[in-house]
Amino acid sequence: MITRQFGIPVTSPGAILRREKELGTPLGLETAETTQHGGLVSDKIIVELIEDWLRLHGSHGFVFDGFPRTTPQAESLRGILVRHRTPLDLAIWLDVSESTVGERISSRLQCQGCGFTTTTASAVFAERPICPYCDGPLVRRTDDDAAVLQKRLAEFNAKTQPLAAFYEKLGTLRRIDGNRDRDAVFGDIARLIEQAA
Ligand code: AMP
Repeated sequence: MITRQFGIPVTSPGAILRREKELGTPLGLETAETTQHGGLVSDKIIVELIEDWLRLHGSHGFVFDGFPRTTPQAESLRGILVRHRTPLDLAIWLDVSESTVGERISSRLQCQGCGFTTTTASAVFAERPICPYCDGPLVRRTDDDAAVLQKRLAEFNAKTQPLAAFYEKLGTLRRIDGNRDRDAVFGDIARLIEQAA
């Protein structure tokens, strides 16, 4: 939605790793076990992915989705942005309750082609689920399961939660109530992006 409305490229290490796994690359195979069980992939691998992506796509603004997820990643990002002479305008923190997360992943469908995300309830399909944007297949993520979610939440609480204080201290943190519907949440995100432009 951000790319469609603002033309800003968005990347997510999770999406890159899922693609690498589908393609059967050494990186995909090396990280498959960790991503499948909801652990965090090593900071070194993730930071290298982001640096490679930035070299190719980052010259006119960018959004990271799901990065950084640890304090060392946030520290690395600071160094990378200094080298690119690019300020970090915003760190958007979506506050979402555990029950909302549980409900969302239980019905999440994702396009294997472009990453578009929808739900089994909100999409009406003829025979098989097809992406409205690229005609790719809409599938369930293999890590969208209750046991994996518990691991992901534990990782979040231990390693990602401290980043709220990290970005609060830098003055870039903006909190949004992510428990509301997609349009309300996106409206708030869009306003923040417009204000930062
Ligand atoms: P996501 O698509 O953001 O839900 O990420 C899927 C999986 O990819 C996570 O459960 C992790 O295993 C891995 N992953 C994604 N982003 C990161 C990150 N910033 N640091 C470490 N692992 C990550």
